[in-house]
Amino acid sequence: MIKYECERCGKCCQWPGEVVISEKEIKAMAEDLDISPYDFTQKYTQLRSSRNGLTLKQDEKGSCVLLENNSCSVHSSKPQQCKDFPNKWRFKGWRQICEATPKKIKQ
Ligand code: SF4
Repeated sequence: MIKYECERCGKCCQWPGEVVISEKEIKAMAEDLDISPYDFTQKYTQLRSSRNGLTLKQDEKGSCVLLENNSCSVHSSKPQQCKDFPNKWRFKGWRQICEATPKKIKQ
């Protein structure tokens, strides 16, 4: 089985699309940034296009608002959706941009 090891190139964080976040994840990211969950929600989140929950804001180019100097500013508490890429889900054309290293793992 192949597992991709993230090289932290930051490219997936620049890929436009919604990052679905839960209340628990907001709490963890807020704690990481030493701000309140309310302030985090105000500053970094917006309503999903489906209006069903919140997503992280993006800049005008589609980059995640929490990407700082090409690095995730909440790496240790990042949402499950971010942790799961590219092993559990992928977007079309991901291999052209993602620098993750494929590693063979025993099952
Ligand atoms: S694009 Fe791939 S290697 Fe780069 S940060 Fe995302 S998962 Fe890691």
